[in-house]
Amino acid sequence: MSDRKPYVGGNWKMNTNRTTSADLSRGLVDSLRTVSNVDIAVFPPFPYLLSVRSILRDRGSAIKLGAQDVYFKPDGAFTGEVSIEMLKDCGVQVVLCGHSERRHVLGESDEMVNQKARAALEGGLEVILCVGETLGQRESGHTDPVNQRQLRAGLAEVPGDFMSRVTVAYEPVWAIGTGKTATPQDAQDVHAKIRKLLGNLYNRDIADRTRIIYGGSLKASNAAELVDQPDVDGGLVGGASLKIADFVPIVQAAQAKR
Ligand code: PEP
Repeated sequence: MSDRKPYVGGNWKMNTNRTTSADLSRGLVDSLRTVSNVDIAVFPPFPYLLSVRSILRDRGSAIKLGAQDVYFKPDGAFTGEVSIEMLKDCGVQVVLCGHSERRHVLGESDEMVNQKARAALEGGLEVILCVGETLGQRESGHTDPVNQRQLRAGLAEVPGDFMSRVTVAYEPVWAIGTGKTATPQDAQDVHAKIRKLLGNLYNRDIADRTRIIYGGSLKASNAAELVDQPDVDGGLVGGASLKIADFVPIVQAAQAKR
């Protein structure tokens, strides 16, 4: 087992309401109380951040509060956007940057992902930088160049000093919410290449320390074989993060990583 502490994030996307986000938070805190040696984060929708924060804090939970997105400008006329200071004011510790739904549904460019990641890191937040190829890119043999481009662009001008607050999530777009999952070997191959590129962009030490987590239809039945891969340091979970009975075994698989 590597020295990297496994990391599992639950991305609730545009799901839950005031009641169910609170129920889910309470259930996770209670069910994960005895789990150690895994960093866990939840990413509720913006309107529920404060109430989820209260539940986590009141129950003394180590689960981190995450935001699904952020805007890179500090304030001003940006209707609908949310700043880093606003997130921090709500107790947010970590933010997703470059999730495939932001890239492919909302049209976010590599440049914007980088602006968001840099601003979040400069503001003291942790970042989970998501990269991943579409089915078309995979079928045309472009998996590696796409992931490399997204990683290089996402980390452009991010100093090595900030990398202890960066986690990379490899999320093949064709596996997100589709029920299709990368094979453990496919995931390991891509993760190893991402780690190699981190070594080229920074140095070996940073590459060895940076967590690279897998996302794409992770569930209780496939989590163990994926997170047991040497370069897979946990998971980013969408659909299965909405049910305690689905999410907890994924965290436990990460805890049991050899
Ligand atoms: C995600 O949203 O990051 C994700 C991996 O979704 P799912 O687990 O539903 O594929």
